[in-house]
Amino acid sequence: MSVVNGGVSFWMREQPTEPERAPLRGDATFDIAIIGAGMSGLWAAYHLTEAQPDLRVVVLEAERVGWGASGRNGGWLSQLIPGNRVKYAAGPEGAAGVTRLQQAMLAGITDVVRVAAEHDLPIDAHRGGNLVVATTKAGVARLHARMAADLHHGLPTASVQSLDSAQVAEHIDVHGVLGGLRYPDVTRINPAKLVRGLARIVEARGVIIHERTRATSVQPRRVETADGIVSAATVLVCTEGYSGPLMGARRIIPVNSSMVATRRLSDDEWARIGWAGLDCLSDAAHTFIYAQRTADGRIAIGGRGNPYRFRSGTGGNGHTPEATIELLSTRLREYFPSVDTTVEHAWSGVMGVTRDWCTSVSFDPTTGLGHSLGYAGHGVTTAYSATKSLADLALGLHTPHTTLPWVGYRSRSWEPEPIRWTGVHTMYRLFRVADAWEEWRGSTETCWLGRMAGHLAGLHG
Ligand SMILES: Cc1cc2nc3c(=O)[nH]c(=O)nc-3n(C[C@H](O)[C@H](O)[C@H](O)COP(=O)(O)OP(=O)(O)OC[C@H]3O[C@@H](n4cnc5c(N)ncnc54)[C@H](O)[C@@H]3O)c2cc1C
Repeated sequence: MSVVNGGVSFWMREQPTEPERAPLRGDATFDIAIIGAGMSGLWAAYHLTEAQPDLRVVVLEAERVGWGASGRNGGWLSQLIPGNRVKYAAGPEGAAGVTRLQQAMLAGITDVVRVAAEHDLPIDAHRGGNLVVATTKAGVARLHARMAADLHHGLPTASVQSLDSAQVAEHIDVHGVLGGLRYPDVTRINPAKLVRGLARIVEARGVIIHERTRATSVQPRRVETADGIVSAATVLVCTEGYSGPLMGARRIIPVNSSMVATRRLSDDEWARIGWAGLDCLSDAAHTFIYAQRTADGRIAIGGRGNPYRFRSGTGGNGHTPEATIELLSTRLREYFPSVDTTVEHAWSGVMGVTRDWCTSVSFDPTTGLGHSLGYAGHGVTTAYSATKSLADLALGLHTPHTTLPWVGYRSRSWEPEPIRWTGVHTMYRLFRVADAWEEWRGSTETCWLGRMAGHLAGLHG
C-alpha cells in the first residue's frame, strides 16, 4: 500500500466530514476576538465563557478548526514545561514559580481529560504514561540528568521513575535499550477529536467561529480581514507557529515536525513487542522521536525531518518528504525488528518556537491586546494551561494563573535570514552528527557537538 501523504493529518482525515462554518462577511462587534481556532484559541474561548457566560466571543480561523498543529500533533498530554526552566526561574518568584508552573501542567492533564469527559467528548484518552528510552550510554546519562533536573524543578517524585533495561521491556520491548525513564501522568489522546469537540463545546455556549477568515492586521480593539473588520475591546492572538505575519517573523518561528502512522498491528504483534500498557514512547536521542499506540492499533511516531523552511515557511497541508518518511520508518524498524511496521500515513505541521523555547503569555489592559504562544512542541497541555493565564488576565482577574512565570515572559529575537535558516539547519545537523558520534564512540556522556547544538538552539544557559 502506498503512503497517504499530507491532507492535514491522519487524525483529521479519519474524522467525519464537517460542513464549513461561514466566513466573516462585513463588519461586526464583539467583546472578545480570538485569532486562530486551534487548541489555544478554543481553550481561550472555553475559559472566558466558563468565567463569564454572557461574553460575546468570536474566533477567526484562516482555514478550518484544527487545521494547524492542533489537528496534527502526536496526541500527548504531557507534564513537560516548554523551554528552559532556568529562564523561568530567573523571574520574580524564582524556583517557586517553576514549581507552580509544573503543578499547573500536571493539573492541566487532569483538567483536559475531565472537561472532555464532562462533555462526552470521545478523545481516546488513556493515562498510560510516557516511557523515554535510551539506546546509548550517553542517552542513559542524559536521562539521569533529566530526572535530577525534573525533581529539582518541582516534579513530584511519583511523577518520574528511573528504569533499567529489564524494567523498560516490561512496558515496551524496544530493541537495544539500555535504560529509561517513565512519566506516569502522560496521557494519550486523539488530537483531532479534542480540537473538534472543543469547537462544539464553545459554540454551544454562543461563541461564533468563522472559518476561512484570515486576520490580516491586528490592532488595539480592531481586527482586519479581507471581508470585514471586527471591533472588540479585547483581541487575543492564538496562532502559535503561524504567528510570524501578525507578531513579527523574529518573535517566533515555525519549526517543522513530521509524523507517520503504521499499518494496524495485530494483538499478536503488540504482544511480541510487549507494548500492552499504552505508554507513549520517546527516546533520549538528540534527534528524538515521540510515539503513541493509537486507539485503532497503529504506531503513530513523529520526529523532525526537515526542521525549518527559509523565511519561516509553514508547509501548507502537511505533505512530507520521502526522506523524512524513511527516517521515521528506519527508527521503527530499529526499535521493533520483530514486527512489520509498514507506514501507511504521513503528515507534517509546525510548532511555534521562541529563541529560548520558552512560552510567552501576555495581555496589555491598556490596548486590550494579548497572546499565548511559543509552546515548542509541548502544546497539548500548555494550550489549556497557558490560555487559562491569558483568559484570567483578559478578564482582569488576579489568580494563581496570572502570575505563572510565562506571563510577561519575553524571549530575545531570532536572527534575521539567512542567518536564521543557516543556524537552525546547522543545529539539527549537529544533533544528528552528535547521535551518530555518541553511538559509534560508546560515549558515556553527551559529546561536545551535542552540547554545542543545545547552546546554539538556545536550549541552555
Ligand atoms: C507534528 C506535531 C506533533 C506534535 N506533537 C505534540 C504532542 O504530542 N504533544 C504536545 O504537547 N504538543 C505537540 N505538538 C505541539 C502542539 O500541537 C501545538 O503546540 C499546539 O497544537 C498549538 O495549538 P495552537 O492552537 O496554539 O496552534 P495551532 O493548532 O497551530 O492553531 C493556530 C491556528 O491559527 C490559524 N491562523 C494562523 N494565522 C491566522 C490568521 N492570520 N488569521 C486567522 N487564523 C490564523 C491557523 O490556521 C491555525 O488553525 C506537536 C506539533 C506538531 C506539528
